[in-house]
Amino acid sequence: MAKRIDIKSLSLQELYGEMEERGEKSFRAKQMYEWMHVKLARSFDEMTNLSKALRESCKEWYTYTSLRAVEVLESETDGTKKFLFELSDGNLVESVWMKYKHGNSVCISSQVGCKMGCGFCASTLGGFERNLRPSEMLDQVYAITLLTGERVSNVVVMGIGEPLDNYENLLTFIKLLTDENGLNISQRNVTVSTCGIVPNIIKLAQEKLQITLAISLHATTDTLRQSLMPIAKRYSIEELLEACQFYFDKTGRRITLEYGMMDGINDSDRDMERLVRIGRQLNCHVNLIPINPVKEREFRGSKADRVKAFKNLLEKNRINVTIRREMGRDINGACGQLRRGAEGRR
Ligand code: SAH
Repeated sequence: MAKRIDIKSLSLQELYGEMEERGEKSFRAKQMYEWMHVKLARSFDEMTNLSKALRESCKEWYTYTSLRAVEVLESETDGTKKFLFELSDGNLVESVWMKYKHGNSVCISSQVGCKMGCGFCASTLGGFERNLRPSEMLDQVYAITLLTGERVSNVVVMGIGEPLDNYENLLTFIKLLTDENGLNISQRNVTVSTCGIVPNIIKLAQEKLQITLAISLHATTDTLRQSLMPIAKRYSIEELLEACQFYFDKTGRRITLEYGMMDGINDSDRDMERLVRIGRQLNCHVNLIPINPVKEREFRGSKADRVKAFKNLLEKNRINVTIRREMGRDINGACGQLRRGAEGRR
């Protein structure tokens, strides 16, 4: 039997092609697309304006991605929810739902595990399993919309995995998520966070998208960055910043620099001055993140007064800066720890 096609990863155009090839009426494509991407149907059986016969055929032709929530944790302090989803092959990924004044934000995973090996991150501890398909990224947003009963306005790709290491699927996902025939989330409300895979930043800059690019910088010298993040051995900070400048020039979108603050590691006055220098050179927004402790690692977040000092100096230099508000502290632990805990119990 031919490999079944993952129908939720197809564009509307591709779906038209599919229906034509199968000898079905072309308006069926539009109907099915709407069931999947607007009404958020969980299976072909819900598509009640298709004939029973067509629904049965679809089950033979296609796979239908529907993630199953196996664990949901809700913060008692701010309503943040963490979801552990099971994929059709039994793999697990996690996603986070955050409620803000300006709307609801979902943080999704892009891979099962991660191969980037950053020293402070929990997602990388169990190694890399596989890439997520576009439908599996998309369905984290869809399943959460259904489970919370609230519209999602912002999506950040900052969960488990390195999105630019799953480039083609990421791109397809963004196009589906922001498609006017689907959920129609504004590209300006989509953020992709990367550890800094330079050639793919250059590529992404040329895709004519309006998404925000966030860079996990975390260090201001190559030596320190290399000791924290293996990817820094391949691309220097200078090359990374040049790629960021190129992204800004091409898209007009201001870059976000994420700076995870670790006690005694990257929070000295000299680090602070170097960060200011970088912030002045690039049109960017700096997000200071007191790092979350990870059980298996010895890093600790910087003290509040260090984070404040960084913020003050950046502001004094007219650099746009925010301190990442900690959401769902009580259910949190860092990214990847929910999945890790569940894998451990299995
Ligand atoms: N691979 C991508 C996206 C996933 S990580 C990237 O590197 O950007 C999302 C963000 O969480 C990154 O900025 C990452 O560096 C940060 N992060 C990882 N471990 C963390 C921890 N223990 N505490 C706080 N932030 C962490």
